[in-house]
Amino acid sequence: MTTVASETATFDSLNPATGEVLSTHPIHDAAHVNAVVDRARIEASWWESLGFDGRKERLIRWQKYVVQHMDELVELMHLENGKPAGDAALEITLAIDHLHWAATHAGKVLKRRSVAPGLMMANNAATVGYRPFGVVGVIGPWNYPVYTPMGSIGYALAAGNAVVFKPSEHTPGIGEWLARSFLEAIGRPVLQVVTGFGETGGALCAAGVGKVAFTGSPATARRVMAACAETLTPVLIEAGGKDALIVDEDADLDAAADAAIWGAAANAGQTCAGVERVYVHERVYDDFLRELTDKAKDLAAEPGGQLGPITMPAQIDIIRRHIDDALARGARAVVGGPESVGERYVQPTVLVDVPDDAAAITEETFGPTVTVTKVRDMDEAVAKANATAYGLGSTVFGKARAVQVAERLRAGMTAINGVLTFAGVPSLPFGGIGESGFGRIHGPDGLKEFTYSHAITRQRFKPALAMTTFRRTTKDEERAGKLVSALYGRSSKKG
Ligand code: NAD
Repeated sequence: MTTVASETATFDSLNPATGEVLSTHPIHDAAHVNAVVDRARIEASWWESLGFDGRKERLIRWQKYVVQHMDELVELMHLENGKPAGDAALEITLAIDHLHWAATHAGKVLKRRSVAPGLMMANNAATVGYRPFGVVGVIGPWNYPVYTPMGSIGYALAAGNAVVFKPSEHTPGIGEWLARSFLEAIGRPVLQVVTGFGETGGALCAAGVGKVAFTGSPATARRVMAACAETLTPVLIEAGGKDALIVDEDADLDAAADAAIWGAAANAGQTCAGVERVYVHERVYDDFLRELTDKAKDLAAEPGGQLGPITMPAQIDIIRRHIDDALARGARAVVGGPESVGERYVQPTVLVDVPDDAAAITEETFGPTVTVTKVRDMDEAVAKANATAYGLGSTVFGKARAVQVAERLRAGMTAINGVLTFAGVPSLPFGGIGESGFGRIHGPDGLKEFTYSHAITRQRFKPALAMTTFRRTTKDEERAGKLVSALYGRSSKKG
């Protein structure tokens, strides 16, 4: 709900389980966003001046603060996002692990290092360093309101940037909590928050920040890119997914079914890299489906249950449409069905015999639903898994061919005989291709994402062959030609 007070318009943050108002937040306009970015520029110079060690010490102080106040944040996440407290605690734990990794590895990954100058420039010393952009704008979603934005915030801070964070309008209180905790732990607002809807995010794109890290839907990603194009602001896009889990004939079916239902239904299915499609070898299809059905029937979405409510009310209609459309086109629901979709909660639903062009196979559902499809062999499994515009995560269960199958998947990440495990490894990059976006958070790639490389050459002695001068003679050019022929032009011996 939006209300306009005397000066600043505000909006309410609601509890998705009950609809009650939890808190009220300002809708920040472009003038406010610009002022926050101006302040962030001042903070950025102080933060950069601390160097890797100074930042590491402070980020670890913040990390400890968050751990010590974890109960408070768990409660807030449960109320504002709806997820069960246990899931909220797991999410914070993962985010902390990543923050710690970023803080302790930034120096190693980003500090200036020597590289070989090559024979043509052998008289130079060559180095490359990775410098912060200054201010990074982070625009976040609501489904993992701590872990997801922290994948950008933590790594951008560790790389030496100040951050202005625009949390989702569904989880503004969690965003404010993060910025407040940073201020309390460190004493300076190197991380600041602006709240509001799309216009506030748009203002952040237009504010002249050094880079925008966006996590959200592909449709909004296009608007963010268009806005950033005006100022040539680089963007990192972490968008949606339609991830597949493949089960080979030699897989541990109990483990595969357990992973499939957790990957599909944890966080009420609102996971960018959650399992939405399963492809199973025909030889084990019936056994797998039985295991999956048994496990899915044990789950319930309800207050205090293992599945919380759907955070964003508009998503309920999308989930209903995907189930209805699949059933209308000949699919069967072996668990749940249209009656699974309630006003706030959606019960787990397993669909089989879904046509390849149904919305439940082609579009992100973002609910606790999963399709299961029988395949002849692993070639067909790979072809079907890859037949999507998205390319975020993926999963393979099997033994003999599991690695081979994984290497053929068109996706940014693959877990073998586990699900979403890549998201918990801080030294691995996280991100996708196609409609899932581009650029990477986490790991060394994720640190470099928030920097620009700066190359330096330093002449150590005068070159035997000076090429970058008007004193260069025709003789010099002939000698250079001979050198390049000797180095790179000799015909290779046939053997
Ligand atoms: P969304 O695209 O609706 O919104 C994301 C953010 O963008 C919000 O903060 C929103 O206010 C802001 N925004 C909206 N319009 C804008 C504009 N014109 N300019 C700038 N900012 C604008 O997405 P959502 O519903 O919050 O999140 C769900 C989506 O996020 C799903 O598609 C999910 O798969 C994806 N997601 C991806 C990852 C990943 O790492 N790849 C992680 C979590 C979620």
